[in-house]
Amino acid sequence: MKVIGLIGGMSWESSAVYYDIINKTVKEKLGGHHSCKCLMYSVDFAVIEKLQHEGNWKQLTQIMIDAAQRLERGGAELLVIATNTMHKIAPEVEKSVRIPLIHIVDAVAEKIRAQGLSKAALLGTRYTMEQEFYKGRLTEKHGIEVIIPDLPGIEMVHRIIYRELVMGVIREESRQECIRIIQKLIDRGAEGIILGCTEIPLLVKQADCAVPVFDTTTIHAERAVEIALG
Ligand code: GLU
Repeated sequence: MKVIGLIGGMSWESSAVYYDIINKTVKEKLGGHHSCKCLMYSVDFAVIEKLQHEGNWKQLTQIMIDAAQRLERGGAELLVIATNTMHKIAPEVEKSVRIPLIHIVDAVAEKIRAQGLSKAALLGTRYTMEQEFYKGRLTEKHGIEVIIPDLPGIEMVHRIIYRELVMGVIREESRQECIRIIQKLIDRGAEGIILGCTEIPLLVKQADCAVPVFDTTTIHAERAVEIALG
């Protein structure tokens, strides 16, 4: 079993879910008392969130590279950036270490393709929904057409993530807002919904949705274990 290195803390609410899933998955696959060999470097999210909202991706890149190199020095053999948004700088992080990075978009795309779907809606932070690093990779590398909510929908989902979910606040009213946004995306032809923020699965579940949902936290964590176990 290879040692998984996780860059966590973005937010720790979802890093705790990653830790839970990687251990449960190893136990499921190997049985007995088996658990996951892993390291986590967990950042202070206050610093990250502030730099994101200031648009200071240069400094964010330095923080992610520093975290990745600490994990590599500590003995990690695989790298997981435990957030969708920070995959914006995955190429720079990947270049800064020798260990392989397990890219969240590739893991999710594989699941979408496996279900034979070619048009999916993306929910996440506004950086993930609006910028090209995520949608672009889904479309250009994996041939998946991606749609996103309208502007009020983008603002609503972004607000729910940063004001509630990363703080551990789960509100029924926000769940209903997300369901309304998802329904509009289905009406526009979405065959699947990518929960492209690692905290959204804390709020929205498959049962809330008429088409398949793709829980990026679970998919990414399970993919990491698959690779760790060879
Ligand atoms: N965890 C979230 C994501 O998957 C948002 C927090 C962050 O900005 O990293 O995008």
